[in-house]
Amino acid sequence: MVIIGAGLAGTAAKNYFSNRGVTTLDSRNSESGWSHKALMRIRDPSLGNYLGCKLRKIKAYKCIYYEGKIYDTYQHNLSNMYSMKVSGSITNRSIDNLGWEERYLMEGEMSSEGISFNKKVISIKDNKVICDDNSEYHYDEIINTMPLPDIAKACGIKTEGIFEKKSKIIIIKIIPLLIESDVNQTVYFPSLSYGLYRATLQGNKIIAEIIPDEIGLGDHWPSFSKDLFKVFGLYYSKLYDKNNITTYYQTNGKIMPINNEYRKYLILELTERFGIYSLGRYATWRNITSEDILPDLEKISQLMEMGKYGRKYYGKITNGGNR
Ligand SMILES: Cc1cc2nc3c(=O)[nH]c(=O)nc-3n(C[C@H](O)[C@H](O)[C@H](O)COP(=O)(O)OP(=O)(O)OC[C@H]3O[C@@H](n4cnc5c(N)ncnc54)[C@H](O)[C@@H]3O)c2cc1C
Repeated sequence: MVIIGAGLAGTAAKNYFSNRGVTTLDSRNSESGWSHKALMRIRDPSLGNYLGCKLRKIKAYKCIYYEGKIYDTYQHNLSNMYSMKVSGSITNRSIDNLGWEERYLMEGEMSSEGISFNKKVISIKDNKVICDDNSEYHYDEIINTMPLPDIAKACGIKTEGIFEKKSKIIIIKIIPLLIESDVNQTVYFPSLSYGLYRATLQGNKIIAEIIPDEIGLGDHWPSFSKDLFKVFGLYYSKLYDKNNITTYYQTNGKIMPINNEYRKYLILELTERFGIYSLGRYATWRNITSEDILPDLEKISQLMEMGKYGRKYYGKITNGGNR
């Protein structure tokens, strides 16, 4: 079995199927670490068994800041504004659950054992996965976590015009505090007047997540920096280290939705024609979170066992599967 991608979903798949002779390929280099630099809180602690790192239980507080006011109960107008800001559509998002929540933080890096780095998959044909360094891997089954438009292209499936907007790039700013802190507080910013959409005071740093202005990739820093520090009560600039702010550009950010029937068709086509099972946010092109990974791995495991004819029947009764 070949697993493409070793982020959250790929690492979980590698460990879930560890008894099946797995080859795991990832395009990033081994030093760069996981590409996800934004906030990562996990709901389902059992996922920790498959990530190869410890999870620490925390209590997180979540609220909304809008035009000088804090809200900690559900407000549908602010939820809708937030959803449109981050995804261009109105759907249920994490802003809908406010107040105190129990979550888990990953401590340290996920296990990278057995991962082949610097392996960018560019083509899949004749039961072979081909990488940009010309290496080839024969496969019986693939679990894919690379983005759906990219795997479709690698398989030679034409998707012109479908993924025009792809996913929204996100700017992440990590701002160190100069005082001790051990809280976990998240604030949502639905305001459409700047790109900051969520900020988290986690331990002694602030993680600010920003949708950039699309043309210049600017991050609107001056327009939101006052609100950002004010919501956490950090009125004095001596409390945070403005000379050591780290900025990351996360190219795979929020998913821009495509027609759901076409999305399901593509995923099924990959399975039926190429033996590729799609797992994770970008491969299934749904704004899912880590809690969907284990149930989806179980479904994939069942589908693999069913074989092609069993899957066809299953596909009919579920109208293409609900993934
Ligand atoms: C800003 C933000 C915050 C989020 N916060 C949370 C949160 O708090 N809690 C939560 O549960 N979920 C969160 N999510 C959702 C989701 O859980 C994460 O996005 C998660 O990182 C998705 O994992 P993944 O493995 O599907 O994708 P990724 O982590 O992106 O992994 C995909 C891997 O595939 C590799 N790859 C890509 N193309 C190729 C190729 N051609 N060949 C080989 N390898 C390739 C990449 O290098 C990467 O390592 C968040 C998402 C975003 C965008």
